[in-house]
Amino acid sequence: MLEVSPVRAFSDNYIWLIRAPEQPDAAVVVDPGQAGPVNAVLEQRGLRLVAILVTHYHPDHVGGVAELAASHDAAVFGPARERLPCEAQLLDDGDHVRLAELGLDFLVMALPGHTLGHIAYYGHGALFCGDTLFSGGCGRLFEGTAEQMLGSLDRIAALPDQTRIYCAHEYTLGNLLFAAAVEPGNADVIDALDATRELRERDAITLPSELGRERRINPFLRCRLPSLRDAAQAHAGRTLAQPSEVFAEVRRWKDGFR
Ligand SMILES: [Zn+2]
Repeated sequence: MLEVSPVRAFSDNYIWLIRAPEQPDAAVVVDPGQAGPVNAVLEQRGLRLVAILVTHYHPDHVGGVAELAASHDAAVFGPARERLPCEAQLLDDGDHVRLAELGLDFLVMALPGHTLGHIAYYGHGALFCGDTLFSGGCGRLFEGTAEQMLGSLDRIAALPDQTRIYCAHEYTLGNLLFAAAVEPGNADVIDALDATRELRERDAITLPSELGRERRINPFLRCRLPSLRDAAQAHAGRTLAQPSEVFAEVRRWKDGFR
């Protein structure tokens, strides 16, 4: 199993640090919004930074990229359809990031919705999905449509149950409070909420999640289920014929949920 650890940045971002299976002193980071916390961890653990993976262009994901790339001479990989802060190897759906000397190989998935060019990296049983899927939730629709985001979540949902989900924010508690409001009868959500509360009380991380678990607790992966459709229709006060309408209603509901 891939050795991955979180580096905290800003108030609730996680920069994921991946250890290279073939080179114990080499590391890859995903979405370094800040350089400082990454440098501190590299120094602490005696690691050298070899590559940087970027999921999308938002500043809290790329703010540290140029500085880290320059100071460590690290290769940068990022979405072909977005503006990046420095020169990068541009990736689109179906491409691979192959770092053979490190023993790493990731498939690139284009997942539009949060931003139009958003990509994710899938490999070694892990998905680095940026701001597309969160534990118990999904990213806001800043650029894409509900249809696009639902299509992106459907592609994630087609991955194996055991896939470990490395998302970029600690949003789990708020997401599960919302999930419990949408599906008050979902015992898996209530269990996950209890476990998450316990972790967050001692400031512990709630990630990674597992896709099989997300399928049971994440309302945005459950838009095709009658229980979700009924809840969304009751909230909307009208019939929602398509899964994308259910998704759009649940997303709107979450946007206004406090
Ligand atoms: Zn974002």
